Amino acid sequence: MARKLPILETSGAIRNDGSRRVIHPADVSGRFHTARKALFYLLVIVMLALPWIRIRGNPAMLLDIPARRFFFFGTSFNAQDTYLLFFLLIAMAWSLVMVTTLAGRAWCGWTCPQTVFLEGLFRPIERLILGNANKRIAQDQAELSVTTVAKKAVVHALWVASSALVAHAVVSFFVAPRTLASLIAHGPAAAPVTFLWSVALTAGIYFNFAWFREQTCLIVCPYGRLQSALVDKDSLIVGYDTARGEPRGKAVAREKSSESGDCVDCKRCVVVCPTGIDIRNGPQLDCIGCTACIDACDEVMDKLERPRGLVRYDSLNGLEGAPRKIFRTRVAVYLTVGAVIAVLGILVIRKRTDFVANVLRVQGAPYTLEGTVVRNAFNLHLVNKRSDRSTFVVEPISDTHVRFVIPLTRIALAPFEDAHAPVFVESQRGQPRGDFTARLRVRREGAPPSETLELTLPCLAPLR
Ligand code: SF4
Ligand code: SF4
Repeated sequence: MARKLPILETSGAIRNDGSRRVIHPADVSGRFHTARKALFYLLVIVMLALPWIRIRGNPAMLLDIPARRFFFFGTSFNAQDTYLLFFLLIAMAWSLVMVTTLAGRAWCGWTCPQTVFLEGLFRPIERLILGNANKRIAQDQAELSVTTVAKKAVVHALWVASSALVAHAVVSFFVAPRTLASLIAHGPAAAPVTFLWSVALTAGIYFNFAWFREQTCLIVCPYGRLQSALVDKDSLIVGYDTARGEPRGKAVAREKSSESGDCVDCKRCVVVCPTGIDIRNGPQLDCIGCTACIDACDEVMDKLERPRGLVRYDSLNGLEGAPRKIFRTRVAVYLTVGAVIAVLGILVIRKRTDFVANVLRVQGAPYTLEGTVVRNAFNLHLVNKRSDRSTFVVEPISDTHVRFVIPLTRIALAPFEDAHAPVFVESQRGQPRGDFTARLRVRREGAPPSETLELTLPCLAPLR
C-alpha cells in the first residue's frame, strides 16, 4: 500500500489545498519600523511633488508621450533620444542586482511602491477603522453585523479615494499636473483617453492593495523569484540565529535553562509577517525583507532582558557563526561592470546635442546642369529638442570648389518643433576631379558650432 507522505505548506499565504490564507499582520513598533515609515512618507512626498517641481523652467519629471517630449530633472529630450532609455534601464536593473547582492531584498522591504503604499497608506486605513489584527481576524470570522458592514464600507470608500489619488499621481507623470487639474475640472468628455487611464489605474490599484496584496510579491513579481540567484552566503538578509535560538524555551524573564535557546516560541515574529512566513524556518523566497520580525523579536528580547538580534540583518555566514565578507569577488565584478555602464552612459549623454540637423538629397534628379554649373539640391532637416524657442544659423564652410546657395540662413523653431529647408551646392563641371564632400555648419544662435554636416557631391566629367 502506498505510503501517504506529509504535505508541507508551500507558502504562508497559501494553504495546502491551494486556497488563500488572508493575512492580517499584527502591529509592530521598533527602530526599523520607525525608519521605514519615515522613508515611506518621504518617498510618497517626493512622488507627489516631483511633477509639480520646475527646474530651469521645465518640469522636473514629465513623460509627454503623445507629443514625444520628455523631461528629466529640467533637461528636455525628444523621440530621437530614446536610445538613452537603454542606459537608464540597464542602470536601474544593474543597481537592483547590486543592491540585492549586498543587502538582499532591501528594495522590496524599504522602497518598492507595493510595500510603500500597502504599509504606508492602505493598511493604516484598515487598522484605523477596523482595529488591530486580532480584531480584524475576529470580524472576518464572526457573523456580519451592521456595524462591521458600515465600517468595512468606510474602509473601502477610503481605499477607492486613496487609489484614485495614487492613480492621479501616476498620471501626473504623463500629463502635466496643471493640465490634469484643468481636465478634471472640465469632466471626462474633455479628455476621454486620460479619463479612461485614470479609471483603469484606480481600479488596478484598488484591486491590488485592497485584495491582492502580498500575492503580488509572492506570485506576480519576477524580481522576487530572481533573488535566490542574486544572493549568496555573504548577502545581508533578514535571518534567524538558529544556534542561539534553538532549542526553543519558555518565556520567563531573566531565567533560562542552560539547555534552552533564546527563542521562547512566542511567535511574535510570525504574526507580524506580512507574507505569513516563519523566519525561523530559514531563508525563504516569500520573505520580502520588511524587517517587521526583527523589531518584533527585539521587543520580546528587551522584555526578557536578553540581547537583541536573535532575528537580525546578517549574512547566512554571519548567522552560522562564520566570518562575514561584504567585499567579495562577485561584488567587485558587479561594481566594475556598473562603473563601465556609468562611464559609457555619461559619455553618451555628454555627446548628446540639444538639436538634430540632417541633410539629405532631394528626391528625384540628384543634380541639374545649367551650362557648366552643376547644381545639387539638398534638404536640411532641423529638430529643436529644447523646450524654448531657438534660432538656428546655417553657414557654409568655405571651399574654393563649391558655392552654397542657402535661401534660409536663420531658421527659428518653436519648442520641440522641426523644419525642412532647401540647400543648394553649385560647382563647375569637372572640378574638382572625383567625388568630393562639401561641408555645412549648423549652430544654435548664441552658442558655439556643434553640428558639421557633410554633403557628398558627384563629379561630372568636364565638357569637351
Ligand atoms: S520573514 Fe520577517 S522580514 Fe521576511 S517578510 Fe516576514 S516579517 Fe518581513
Ligand atoms: S519573536 Fe523571537 S522569541 Fe518569539 S518566536 Fe520569534 S524568534 Fe522566537
